[in-house]
Amino acid sequence: MRRSALLALALLLALIPAAAQRRAKNVILFLADAGGVATVSAASLHGYGEPQKLYVQSWPNVGLSDTTTATNYVSDSAAGMTAIVAGVKTHSGVISMGPDAERGKKDGRILKTLLEYAEEKGLATGVVSNMSIADATPAACYGHANDRRKQGELFLQIFSPRFGDGPDVVIGAGRKTIWGQAGARIEAASQKAGRKIYGSLDAVPADERRPIVVSDSEPDVAAAARRALDLLSANRKGYFLMVEWDAHTDNPRKGLDNLVAFDKLIREIAAKVNLKETLLVFTADHSFELRITGGRRGVPLLEGLDEWQAKNSPRDEIRIPALRVGHSHTGEDVLVTAIGAGAERVRGYMPNTRIFDLILQAWGWRPEPR
Ligand SMILES: [Zn+2]
Repeated sequence: MRRSALLALALLLALIPAAAQRRAKNVILFLADAGGVATVSAASLHGYGEPQKLYVQSWPNVGLSDTTTATNYVSDSAAGMTAIVAGVKTHSGVISMGPDAERGKKDGRILKTLLEYAEEKGLATGVVSNMSIADATPAACYGHANDRRKQGELFLQIFSPRFGDGPDVVIGAGRKTIWGQAGARIEAASQKAGRKIYGSLDAVPADERRPIVVSDSEPDVAAAARRALDLLSANRKGYFLMVEWDAHTDNPRKGLDNLVAFDKLIREIAAKVNLKETLLVFTADHSFELRITGGRRGVPLLEGLDEWQAKNSPRDEIRIPALRVGHSHTGEDVLVTAIGAGAERVRGYMPNTRIFDLILQAWGWRPEPR
């Protein structure tokens, strides 16, 4: 063999490990709000009567994410999501601004989010939620504010993006709150940007490529996510999609039903996308006060719940044979699990801010100083 041929072969061999770690073109972040480890376990027991039957529990890469904020052990969705999508621990109530912010009083430095990186690179982007689309979790993807309560102001930022042309697909609830705060300004901004805002997914015409849907009541998350995926995957450079489905268990039946349905949706989406070029990440922003304190096989997990709720105040701690459920967020670590391109980076214990880093690394992008 000629020397040049040998050199070429050596070079090729050196490149193989790099090729094994595939870069992601697309990233989908599935956020189960308040879906702590115990809630994930309970969802499997509730939905299937067996442990570890959720689809996300079959993913090969698993880690535990710390959820503390810049100051406190227990986080809210604002600080939790800011850490995940902007890579910086801030204070509860603060949306994608640094810890130099004071909630409701003083702005902090603006943090560049995963959605903004993606917009800057020309990818398509979307946010879908069963909650208000300007509530903390979705808002932290596209907006910045010193107080999560400023939903009108946050929503308006969709029309004045810092990078690219802003989130392309936006589907969620919250019309009453958002319009109550900024209705007239929203109508003006929507007209100026030439982007119509629809009241329901059904009202979106088939040829609308960048729908903004804000409904009064909870949207059908599965239908919304399917629509978002169809639209975003038309972009040849790739896409970033965040799907939130609330898993707070103040009402255990609703929270656990949501998580079981979310998991089914994730299974469906994973079968649809090309996992060689798409990274799927499932995690939570913080945990919740749900404990499995009893129960046994063959008996529904929520046995006794209806009777309990009929006899007690919704503010009481729920005590049924299998569960005790309080009403607080809690400070322990949450599950982070992944499949697809770049998923191998999800392993071990990690700060919540590393989820931001590992998604950027999966894309092959460098984080800016923060
Ligand atoms: Zn939350």
